[in-house]
Amino acid sequence: MEKRIYNFSAGPAVLPEEVLLQAQKELFVLPGVGMSIMEISHRSKTYDAIHSEAKANIKKLLDIPDDYAILFLQGGASLQFSMVPLNLMPPANKADYILTGSWSKKAIKEAKRVGTANIAGTTEEGEGDKKFFKRIPKQSELKLDPDAAYVHITSNNTIFGTQFHTEPQVGNVPLVCDASSDILHKKIDIEKYGLVYAGAQKNMGPAGVTMVIIRKDLVERSQDTLHTMLSYKTHVDNDSLYNTPNTFGIYIVNLIAKWLINLGGLDKMYEINKKKANMLYKCIDESNGFYKGHAEKESRSLMNITFNLATPEMEKQLIDNATKAGFNGLKGHRSVGGLRASIYNAFPTKGVEELVSFMKDFQQKNG
Ligand code: PMP
Repeated sequence: MEKRIYNFSAGPAVLPEEVLLQAQKELFVLPGVGMSIMEISHRSKTYDAIHSEAKANIKKLLDIPDDYAILFLQGGASLQFSMVPLNLMPPANKADYILTGSWSKKAIKEAKRVGTANIAGTTEEGEGDKKFFKRIPKQSELKLDPDAAYVHITSNNTIFGTQFHTEPQVGNVPLVCDASSDILHKKIDIEKYGLVYAGAQKNMGPAGVTMVIIRKDLVERSQDTLHTMLSYKTHVDNDSLYNTPNTFGIYIVNLIAKWLINLGGLDKMYEINKKKANMLYKCIDESNGFYKGHAEKESRSLMNITFNLATPEMEKQLIDNATKAGFNGLKGHRSVGGLRASIYNAFPTKGVEELVSFMKDFQQKNG
């Protein structure tokens, strides 16, 4: 078999090797079924069992109470930027958004097409096309409207490498969270949220599945005038099977959920994630300024570690050398530059250790 390299891509991202090998083994014939997962009806008993198991395993991992529905939709997190306001904004027709990066900005753009999207807090800095974010706003910086339909946050800012480490306090207003790039990286208290959505392609599976966890009372806000496929009510009433779901993707989501359960659950996963991220941040902090972390310390992401070197030329040299050494996907997002090491759940600790030693070596030769 060909050797796998270390994949630091921001998404679609690395998946657990055990999951890939199991999917490979079962791809030709699903045991006892005589067909592949991609060839069976989404209305079959076999698929129904996989669909139910995927939901049950996610429910177990996140300890999701019975008054929440778990949906597997399509259209990416980007479609949720529209579905959230379309379904949840009326009748108040105003919602609060905490603006912490490019993805929150895109969510706000769609919300404004539905009603008033109030920026309840932001940490944007810079001018023109050089705008950036280095931190998450403090509670005291938020101006929340108690009559807002919901408060929207992006829990992890994939591009800038910042992350909410605790939820903002929003009183009785439902908290809506885009958790695309940190879902399942630790246990969260679902009861603090009205709705959580996440594209699967970073921590949960392949591209093409979007998980939505929604408190069932909020489904009542979906108006009958909405297009059928854009209404949460349709998907809750039909258990995500109104149309053909991404059956293969949901099968992989289930394998990943099982992988997490076998690992020891999300508390164990969180421990590993903290250890991995701390190794990289320690290397940055102890480099005497050779590596400069982008995010402020208390807002640092455990998933996307963003940093710079003294010049773009040095950054390019590091990326080129790293690519040759088998570290792929370290180039920062085009809007930020520098480097970004995305180390989601499935990224191996050994790969982080090897990157740290590579970075130390590069510093020694070039510092
Ligand atoms: N939100 C966040 C935080 C993301 O990182 C991304 C994708 N990188 C998106 C939303 C958009 O997701 P999708 O491409 O699945 O629409």
